[in-house]
Amino acid sequence: MKILVAVKRVVDYNVKVRAKADGSGVETANVKMSMNPFDEIAIEEAVRLQEAGKAKEIVAVSLGVAACQDTIRTALAMGADRGILVETDAELQPLAVAKLLKVVVEKEQPDLIILGKQAIDDDANQTGQMLAALLGWSQGTFASKVEIGDGAINVTREVDGGLETVAIKLPAVVTSDLRLNEPRFVKLPNIMKAKKKPLAVLKPAELGVDIAPRLITLKVQEPPKRQAGIKVDAVAILVDKLRNEAHVI
Ligand code: AMP
Repeated sequence: MKILVAVKRVVDYNVKVRAKADGSGVETANVKMSMNPFDEIAIEEAVRLQEAGKAKEIVAVSLGVAACQDTIRTALAMGADRGILVETDAELQPLAVAKLLKVVVEKEQPDLIILGKQAIDDDANQTGQMLAALLGWSQGTFASKVEIGDGAINVTREVDGGLETVAIKLPAVVTSDLRLNEPRFVKLPNIMKAKKKPLAVLKPAELGVDIAPRLITLKVQEPPKRQAGIKVDAVAILVDKLRNEAHVI
């Protein structure tokens, strides 16, 4: 089985995100960037399937600026076999990413595609579903467990009321949730080895995809600052304040 994993370069989850002064977006200059955490989980799952003898090859794909090569190298250091960068400086919205991934999928013919359930920068939670729809493939989203059978997989999904297990046919699209696994720590020798693994660079125009944005961001602003809280000495005072000052009870 061949697995394709989509890995996005995003602002590191430890960074306190700031809006640009002109409200046009999020400040990314001089900000630490890393692989989207759900995509680390996606790669980890693919590597575990390979280690269990269920997958032959893992291809990591990233779309975006040239620096996404670093994200692909991280995926290669975790265990992916080769990488593909679809390089562009243009803004890529989930529909454009899904369309580009569809063409990569048609070239690569994987049996399984694993994406993160959402990217922590746009929080869209759309790309996997759009890709499955464009390909006409089955999808198992929010996966917390993946079991490969013969020509099919069982995906346990995190849903509001608990867990739901769906049996879906391969080829399929799976999106990873937080509890699917704990990604491994990348060791130095593997980082060195990853530098030698193949990484192909493609351009959106070569893939014949229209990546023009369909959505316009009107303004990005930070949430209003929270007022400092106060401590009260007794429950009766708290109840009084909630009733007569906050008017919430
Ligand atoms: P989103 O729909 O934007 O929340 O992203 C969901 C998932 O799609 C991410 O976790 C990635 O696996 C994949 N993805 C989205 N954008 C990109 C990108 N530019 N490059 C690679 N993967 C992406």
